[in-house]
Amino acid sequence: MSLVADLLFAMKPRCPACRRGRLFKPYSVSVVEECSQCHAKLGKHDVGDGASVFLIFLLGVSIVPAAWLFECLVAPPLWVHVVLWGFVALGMIALILPTVKAFIILLEYRHRPGEWKKN
Ligand SMILES: [Zn+2]
Repeated sequence: MSLVADLLFAMKPRCPACRRGRLFKPYSVSVVEECSQCHAKLGKHDVGDGASVFLIFLLGVSIVPAAWLFECLVAPPLWVHVVLWGFVALGMIALILPTVKAFIILLEYRHRPGEWKKN
């Protein structure tokens, strides 16, 4: 599979084994204990903070320069920065975190098959 195909797959998080069952609990980024379609034990393969750490780096690299540029061009009051960048950060987290987490689980499934066979 290509990187683009993997990222597209991760944008709609599904079980990496059968690619049909849900990967996360509803309205959450918690991994389900077991796939509803193939009964793979997905709960053992929660990547924990791995996706969050990656996202912190991504947000830091993108939001801090944007806030600095906004300050240089517009120079708004401090409360505008707090509200604006707070909502931007929360929105990016809500949009990107499930995809990153699903992508890491997909990579783990692909490159650590021994871990998945221990189910
Ligand atoms: Zn499955």
